[in-house]
Amino acid sequence: MSRTAIVWFRRDLRLADNPALTYALAKTDRIVALSVAPDSAARRAYGAASLEWLELSRQALDASLRQRGARLRVVSGPAPEALAREVARCNATLVACNRDWTPSGMLEERAVGAKLAAAGVELHVSEGQLLVPPGAVTTGSGTPYSVFTPFSRAWRGAWIASAPLPAPERIVGYSAVDEEPLQDALQSPSAATSMAAHWTPGEAGAHERLQAFVDDALATYDTDRDRPALPGTSSLSPHLAWGEITPLQVAAAVNAAHDESIAWPFLRQLAWREFSYHVLHAHPQSLYEPLRSEFSAFPWREDAAGTAAWSAGRTGYPIVDAGMRQLAETGWMHNRVRLVAASFLTKDLLVPWQTGEAVFRERLVDYDPAANAFNWQWVAGSGADAAPYFRVFNPATQGVRFDPDGTYVRRWVPELAALDARWIHRPHLAPSAELLRAGVVMGETYPAPVVDHAEARTRALAALASMRRPR
Ligand code: FAD
Repeated sequence: MSRTAIVWFRRDLRLADNPALTYALAKTDRIVALSVAPDSAARRAYGAASLEWLELSRQALDASLRQRGARLRVVSGPAPEALAREVARCNATLVACNRDWTPSGMLEERAVGAKLAAAGVELHVSEGQLLVPPGAVTTGSGTPYSVFTPFSRAWRGAWIASAPLPAPERIVGYSAVDEEPLQDALQSPSAATSMAAHWTPGEAGAHERLQAFVDDALATYDTDRDRPALPGTSSLSPHLAWGEITPLQVAAAVNAAHDESIAWPFLRQLAWREFSYHVLHAHPQSLYEPLRSEFSAFPWREDAAGTAAWSAGRTGYPIVDAGMRQLAETGWMHNRVRLVAASFLTKDLLVPWQTGEAVFRERLVDYDPAANAFNWQWVAGSGADAAPYFRVFNPATQGVRFDPDGTYVRRWVPELAALDARWIHRPHLAPSAELLRAGVVMGETYPAPVVDHAEARTRALAALASMRRPR
């Protein structure tokens, strides 16, 4: 009698290096490839940009499955009920998935496992989303790492040196189920963002981007990675976030192309990504609450006008505004600018990091629960191995340093495009003749700064000092 497995696709929208798929193909004769459509809770957990990416990525996965003899079936959630229903429908003996290390992903796995166990069906959960799963490296005293550098060393030493799994050439689908009309057919993407102009969601798009990065930018990554005007980084983050490509595949390509001195500065960024997962696994509440508990008493401000200006890219600080506009247009922002924009919100405006985290969650195509919360807390000073609180980025100085000729600002804040490079990062200080020449009217064509950075810095340091004073 032929045996059927359901492969439950989650944040692992790929066929290659997919241990759950490989396991299911080895154990059974035919496969139902299944994705559960986000229910209202999942729709709240992911923003519009992520959901749009998900839809396009599922279409790409469906096309790849069809080339191999199967298809992607999308059903309504919640996942435990959906999977139990599908198991009964196709008499499956196995459900296979890859581990989702987020707290909600693991809860979901437990709920699905319990539901299937009651029906006598095994849920097989594979590793493969991270190079080194949480728990696999610990400090000498057996606790999770909270400092990055020793973590990264242990992480580098703990890689399992296996080759990525190949994509199966043929997949025998389950025709009786596959031919039924889908409950929740793959939807056409909304035209809300200009996604297609900037990205190619899906496994093939991920590998094209990796190849282009390895060929064109990896060799200069260490020198160019902080320059937002240059194509100096990989832009692989949304593909990694949706599991269209694995860190193992990326690391293998990078290691094959260059020796350690070139490869490590890039692989170190993958280590940051994995560190954020290790920290989240050890402290699930850090998705929403400060990891350093003393920050619960931090005197955050409510600043609706400042937050609105930040969110709209109209703070009067060009590098911050350029970043927020790049995010709105493309669903992505360069890492250096994310740091400056996040610092501006949490330190210059003293708005809680959770507010910024939610805005990024809504807009980022690479939204990743672990990386987003971790980095917001890191910038705010409340997280693991965080930036010292007294390090308040000066947005003008950061602009001059990392966008010296203003190319990035000119691209995203076109109303300042004609300003001389000397003033492009501080237009509010430019002489009136220069503003006139460049057609800039402060407060009209471009906003005056919503806050004075020097005063804001003093206020931020006072806020920290107040928190430290014994109560
Ligand atoms: P590259 O420089 O090419 O790096 C390669 C990969 O390493 C990235 O694709 C990413 O997966 C990982 N990586 C790099 N830097 C970091 C980092 N600091 N933390 C975690 N992983 C990293 N990254 C996300 O993937 N999702 C998020 O939701 C997210 N939110 C962020 C919020 C803030 C406030 C900040 C400061 C950073 C955030 N990052 C997030 C991290 C980083 O900005 C992006 O991963 C990076 O800009 C993606 O561009 P890239 O693929 O070209 O990176």
